[in-house]
Amino acid sequence: MNFVLKLLITYTEIYTSAGHQFINCGNLFACLILLSFTHHNIICRPGQYDTMKVQIFKEVHFDASHRLLHYKGKCANLHGHRWKVEVWVEGEPDNTTSILLDYNKIKEIIGKFDHQIILNIDDPMATCIKKFQHIIVTPGDPTSELLAVVIRDDLEKYCRSQRISAKIIRIRVWESPSCFAELTDENR
Ligand SMILES: [Zn+2]
Repeated sequence: MNFVLKLLITYTEIYTSAGHQFINCGNLFACLILLSFTHHNIICRPGQYDTMKVQIFKEVHFDASHRLLHYKGKCANLHGHRWKVEVWVEGEPDNTTSILLDYNKIKEIIGKFDHQIILNIDDPMATCIKKFQHIIVTPGDPTSELLAVVIRDDLEKYCRSQRISAKIIRIRVWESPSCFAELTDENR
């Protein structure tokens, strides 16, 4: 890079000829072309940011309880998990902030599940518990599979509301250290 800058300085020297000052425009032009290949950000004006697709990753943990209304077995009982959510996001960062999607915003959106009870909206237990505390209901049994969809939709809804050009390309919801559900963009 230093070599290129030295070239630029060299070729933009002002020459004096016959009492008139002029810039050696031919060499300057060549130098700018060279720079555009080596470090385009020097040449780009604000708003002319080259399209740059990036991927980011965020991991979020939360504690919550659930039960599976249609499950035959112990998961039909209200019980808790230390959930782990992994999110992969792809898109073009904002021209001004150079941020695709704020990691803290991802944590905040998923954080709504922390220390909550998550139940199927049709679960009769929901009506009872609502008398005592806030609960989160889902449009079906709150499995890790469904939570992946719900969280993906929450994140993409936020992106649309903020006109953020980002897509959730993969999300994993772990309900234990050995079990996770994964949702990928190809499944849509
Ligand atoms: Zn469970």
